[in-house]
Amino acid sequence: MGCSGGKPSAQGGSAGLNVQDAQSSAVRATIEAKIVLLGDSGVGKSSLALRFCQGRFNPYHEVTIGAAFLQQIVRLRDGSQLKLHVWDTGGQERFRAMTHLYYRDAAGAVIVYDCTDAHSQASVMYWVHELQNKGPARCCMAVAANKSDSENKAVDAKQMKGYCDENGLLFVETSAKTGENVGHLFESLAARVATDLGDRKS
Ligand code: GDP
Ligand code: MG
Repeated sequence: MGCSGGKPSAQGGSAGLNVQDAQSSAVRATIEAKIVLLGDSGVGKSSLALRFCQGRFNPYHEVTIGAAFLQQIVRLRDGSQLKLHVWDTGGQERFRAMTHLYYRDAAGAVIVYDCTDAHSQASVMYWVHELQNKGPARCCMAVAANKSDSENKAVDAKQMKGYCDENGLLFVETSAKTGENVGHLFESLAARVATDLGDRKS
């Protein structure tokens, strides 16, 4: 399945993707893709990036200033590898004005909300519209309902899953704390990004 298209951009459709062709048949192509994390402050963007890229969890909330990036390699079903550049953005209002600098060349985006915080869920629609209207021409989107380990859920996951299905977005319930579904989230998005790259080449 391909990725939902935003408004066509002047730069064309190669946002965030960089294919280094294999030098010999023994070496598989290395694909690199930029993935950006978006969502309100405190929902767990930095924690998801840290869990996925370094297998760690920090119980303290340190405000991300601007953005930071980590890398992780994902092995795809066909055996090729996708190197993800995971960009973690500051979700606070004062950083929102700069966020487009980070998503404008992203091949994929993870929009994160905290399932114990209804306000953060409402912000998902803001980010989806933002990406559709101002984002790259093709951007694969996933929504992560984070903190699934928490007991006091304030948000109905079914409702968000329905919204994601209607809009062609991946939906995954994650816990950066326990690690549940974090690999699945990024690997599923990586697979969509790689498929999208294949579609563009053919
Ligand atoms: P960010 O502002 O979106 O980057 O949020 P952080 O990653 O800094 O996380 C904010 C707070 O939520 C921190 O205290 C984290 O330890 C906590 N947190 C993040 N992910 C989870 C999770 O999956 N479960 C629980 N229980 N807490 C989490
Ligand atoms: Mg952060």
